[in-house]
Amino acid sequence: MRVTILGAGTAIPSQGYSPAGIYVQIAKERVLLDAGAGTLQRLAAAPSRRGTSSAAGSVPPRSAALWAPWAQLDRIFLTHFHLDHCLDLASVLFAYRLPQIARRKPLTVYGPPGLRRLYRQLNAAFQGWLTPRGFRLHLRELRASRLRLPGYTVQSYPMRHYNTGAIGYRLTAGGKSLGYSGDTDACDGVINLGRRADTLILECSVSDERKVKGHLTPSECGRIAASAGCRHLILTHFYPVFQGYDIRARVRRAYRGRLTLARDFTAFAL
Ligand SMILES: [Zn+2]
Ligand SMILES: [Zn+2]
Repeated sequence: MRVTILGAGTAIPSQGYSPAGIYVQIAKERVLLDAGAGTLQRLAAAPSRRGTSSAAGSVPPRSAALWAPWAQLDRIFLTHFHLDHCLDLASVLFAYRLPQIARRKPLTVYGPPGLRRLYRQLNAAFQGWLTPRGFRLHLRELRASRLRLPGYTVQSYPMRHYNTGAIGYRLTAGGKSLGYSGDTDACDGVINLGRRADTLILECSVSDERKVKGHLTPSECGRIAASAGCRHLILTHFYPVFQGYDIRARVRRAYRGRLTLARDFTAFAL
């Protein structure tokens, strides 16, 4: 499994911290976890080689553009329908219609209940230009579900994030597991999501001192990771409130495992 965090931020513009989106190569498939604004652009710009973690100077040549993975996604897993997690669903569907792409393979999009309505309404707002042409689009609404996919499994867990019906996803392939919370407050679901996971990606929106309901703080992330017993904790979804703030020290009060603070294009393999 290879993972590239395409957006480590939120809806508030901040250099190096774009809206949420994670690209995963798993088994023989290419998938996105969330698709906030600009995810498709960053996917086209993302370094394709393992081990590179900076986007600077690594934009593929124009002739290679159609071979970049952005045109070949198999599945998109949306955690919820806040704009910083799903707006680029429209961009993907619009791009895949273009005759230059000649898309043939089906695309399956997963999300909490409301996904079909979201698609219908987006497509109506964009005058029908999100209707697939030349390929099939499948929309699957999930709560707590387990999917058997080619060479891997995906389990969804209800999260606690206002009344959005948000779900987190756990991907498992070859004995390795990756959990991704999307947006959530502390809850049993997010601990179960990360239970003994090799890597757990948690949202970390706000500071301990300015806790906001529906989101996690660094101390809470540390406690969740410790309870779950995950090996590697990656924090993402940083609001620009953390400048000069020692996130690591707060996480370390509870969690002793490997810790990474993501930025756009943080990449790793597991
Ligand atoms: Zn949200
Ligand atoms: Zn968010």
